[in-house]
Amino acid sequence: MATTSVAVATMKTAEIPGPGADFQIVERRIPEPGPGQVRIKVQACGVCHSDAVTKEGSWPGIQYPRVPGHEVAGIIDDAGTGVSEWKSGQRVGVGWHGGHDNTCRECRRGDFRSCRNLKIPGISYDGGYEQYMVAPVEALVAIPETLSDVEAAPLLCAGVTTYNALRHSGALPGDLVAVQGIGGLGHLGVQFANKFGYRVAAIGRGSENASLAMKLGASVYIDSQSTNAAEALQELGGAQAILATAPSSKAMSELVDGLGPNGKLIVVGVAFDPIQVTPIQLISRSRTIQGWDTGTPADSEDTLRFAELTGARPMIETYPLERAGEAYARMISGQARFRVVLTM
Ligand SMILES: [Zn+2]
Ligand SMILES: [Zn+2]
Repeated sequence: MATTSVAVATMKTAEIPGPGADFQIVERRIPEPGPGQVRIKVQACGVCHSDAVTKEGSWPGIQYPRVPGHEVAGIIDDAGTGVSEWKSGQRVGVGWHGGHDNTCRECRRGDFRSCRNLKIPGISYDGGYEQYMVAPVEALVAIPETLSDVEAAPLLCAGVTTYNALRHSGALPGDLVAVQGIGGLGHLGVQFANKFGYRVAAIGRGSENASLAMKLGASVYIDSQSTNAAEALQELGGAQAILATAPSSKAMSELVDGLGPNGKLIVVGVAFDPIQVTPIQLISRSRTIQGWDTGTPADSEDTLRFAELTGARPMIETYPLERAGEAYARMISGQARFRVVLTM
């Protein structure tokens, strides 16, 4: 019997075969975009700490194998039916906000960030650790010409999270704003806070990041190992906002007393143990503790344009896609300075 073979276009992906498993580099058929979707030729994808939920299976309902990655920068390569606003050849990104349903109560109120059926790339569908990725149009972020792919990628999660949290903090130009943790989130937070016109106090453990924090735009560096950081903030007048980026509930708890009147502790560093605070700590100066969850694609576009305008940039270490496992291990080690980015 005669056989015919049809050449199938394939691509490389770095996928997680199952919860807790190691990355595998596999060849897959290049996916086709469905209605309302585009296919992106991925150029770069950031490796975020939240990718651990896919790696370890700690998010309910993930179907495996799954390709992680929600800091994606690339070029539209094909579009499905019904896509008119976005064109092939256009540079786009996809962040944590990977699509909303437009029909739930929150979407009908315009609060897309809180969509009850929010899709997250790398969790709800395959993310950017691959050469071609399909995404719905409501997840797309236009990337300005002057930003490279590897610079834009981390701004789509780490960047928009810190930028958006700070711009909604209520702090005004000239106010004292502290950024706790000089890492993947914090090194961006210090830059944004400086560019927003705040007096920036960077808080880190040890003195090793002091000169870097000052270079990124901090006015003061507080070493929380050798100093009581809350007291140091009070000596500076009390912080209007503290952006807590390091995933340590204990460190966050210790900073509440550093807030000034009506000051706000904004939590973006993910931890699972409780933040400890007494009612009197909150009541005495009408203090607030608030969590902040990334932003919409429009918020990400604001972040990218602000980065373009001001020169704020992530510090990155790049790895080729084939070394995704090593790149992920580097990120998890906490030693990367500061964002790890895969290139395709
Ligand atoms: Zn992320
Ligand atoms: Zn919704």
